[in-house]
Amino acid sequence: MPSANRHDLFAAERPPRPTAAVPEDAPADLAAKALEIHRRLCPVYGCPIPYFHSLAPLSELVSSLLSHRTRNADSGRAFKALRARYPDWADMLVAPVEAIEDTIRGVTWPELKAPRIQAVLRAVEARRGSLSLAFLADMPVEAARTWLEAIPGVGPKTSAAVLSFSVLRMAALPVDSHHHRVAQRLGLIGAKVDVGPSHPILRAQLPADWSAQDLYDNHEILMLHGQQVCHHRKPACGRCVLLDLCPSAQGAYREP
Ligand code: SF4
Repeated sequence: MPSANRHDLFAAERPPRPTAAVPEDAPADLAAKALEIHRRLCPVYGCPIPYFHSLAPLSELVSSLLSHRTRNADSGRAFKALRARYPDWADMLVAPVEAIEDTIRGVTWPELKAPRIQAVLRAVEARRGSLSLAFLADMPVEAARTWLEAIPGVGPKTSAAVLSFSVLRMAALPVDSHHHRVAQRLGLIGAKVDVGPSHPILRAQLPADWSAQDLYDNHEILMLHGQQVCHHRKPACGRCVLLDLCPSAQGAYREP
């Protein structure tokens, strides 16, 4: 069970301000370092990395909200259970929240997620007049992110996931906890930069003209590196291809 405080569940998903996702220019040395990290990790993890989802953007939004602080297998099961019980997301708008909570009880904090997901779906319908996010495909990426992040409970990680992982396949960079930890240890972001604010910083370090696949690969390789080498408790620095680039490895993490 994840150890985060339940009241922090959606804290990282609160947009600091509507234009928070707009990348600013990155220092040239960090941009060069980010590119070198990408160049080294890609062959290790096999770019281009296949997409793991082909969901409609609204379904990806529901899936992403379910996945917060929850193991992938548990959130995947909950998503399938929701789809089985509510084949049309419109059915969830009028469903008793207790029934939704019961359907997703395998995820972390279902009592918070059930009303949150229902509220997010209601917000989409209220703002668009329908339950579809397909219109986002016609918007610039940053405008689409800002539209999504104006919904309470939808922050930078979720907006990027909707645009990148769904069939929209738009050029947005999600940052999960593994990606964030590795970026922090490598010095791409400061020690006090949280996951939400790290999104525009890390995006700005990568070329502005990178494709959706390039950005997806960058997220996936940093996430996989965090899962397989740069572990939370004991990073395996001795077999890390980034050892000479990493200020953290020169201290507590360097292996004899
Ligand atoms: S050298 Fe160690 S701390 Fe740095 S990225 Fe590699 S595994 Fe992580």
